[in-house]
Amino acid sequence: MGGGILVQGTVLKATAGFYYVHDGRKVWECSLRGKFRLTGTTVLVGDRVMLQPRPEGTGLIVDVLPRANSLLRPPVANVELAVIVLACAHPDPSLLLLDRILLQVAVAGVQPLICFNKSDLVEPAEFAPARIYREAGYRIFFTSALQRQGIDALAEALCGRIAVLAGPSGAGKSSLLNALIPGLQLKVGAVSSKLQRGRHTTRHVELLGLPAGGWVADTPGFSSLTLPELKKSELAPLFPDLHRFSQHCRFRGCLHVQEPECAVRQAVQSGEVSELRYRHYLQFLQEIAEQERKY
Ligand code: GDP
Ligand code: ZN
Repeated sequence: MGGGILVQGTVLKATAGFYYVHDGRKVWECSLRGKFRLTGTTVLVGDRVMLQPRPEGTGLIVDVLPRANSLLRPPVANVELAVIVLACAHPDPSLLLLDRILLQVAVAGVQPLICFNKSDLVEPAEFAPARIYREAGYRIFFTSALQRQGIDALAEALCGRIAVLAGPSGAGKSSLLNALIPGLQLKVGAVSSKLQRGRHTTRHVELLGLPAGGWVADTPGFSSLTLPELKKSELAPLFPDLHRFSQHCRFRGCLHVQEPECAVRQAVQSGEVSELRYRHYLQFLQEIAEQERKY
């Protein structure tokens, strides 16, 4: 291998055998070292790679650094944050869907942020869902993409990270990206939305750079309506607000359904755990039981 300085960067985009790698200052068009085909090494958007500059100004990717995680849809590595976008209203947020997404995000090893968009349509201080999820321990943001409110706080949370958006269509994901990235000009509106279309085509995912630093995938993730494959006992640990009481349950392996002296149910009764979150937990538990019966 030739000597010379190697450059570290992040893969932003991959098309037709070329990889576009950002080194903190500029983007390199790269190809892959031939050996990768033999070793089966794959390179994903989001990967941290080492490239060897070539005389013509392009690069050769010679090494892929270990991945913290990788998503299947969109195929992105090293995703640190999932920004779960729900509308405060129009449409009203489905908190059952929110909990489904939170579960997928937790299983993927990604940190969730909950972004209640369209805050211009409600009185944030009186918006009950935010209180429920804040008390459950999640980070909450209120934004109005329309009126450019809360955008800077969200941008600050994304600074230096790789993030993926999630949430139902119509919540304002494209509008938020437009607000976060001046000049992006994604089409807005549920049907024509570029983000939505991305789900149904083979369009490649791309990381979009935020002005203050950080990257957001242009294709949303965590959109599956089916639960990840879990055992019943694995569910409660993914509800941090419930789980912190479970060590005080009388029985080890308590599933917090009917068992006597269940600290989680007591916490629901005393109002320390949200009844709504507990109901969703029970619903998911039942879905897991139904899945298990199928095998
Ligand atoms: P997506 O499907 O999640 O990408 O949502 P879009 O960004 O396409 O937005 C869906 C609709 O909600 C569009 O008609 C937007 O104009 C509207 N919208 C987006 N953000 C806001 C907001 O902050 N306030 C209000 N009132 N409407 C918004
Ligand atoms: Zn219990």
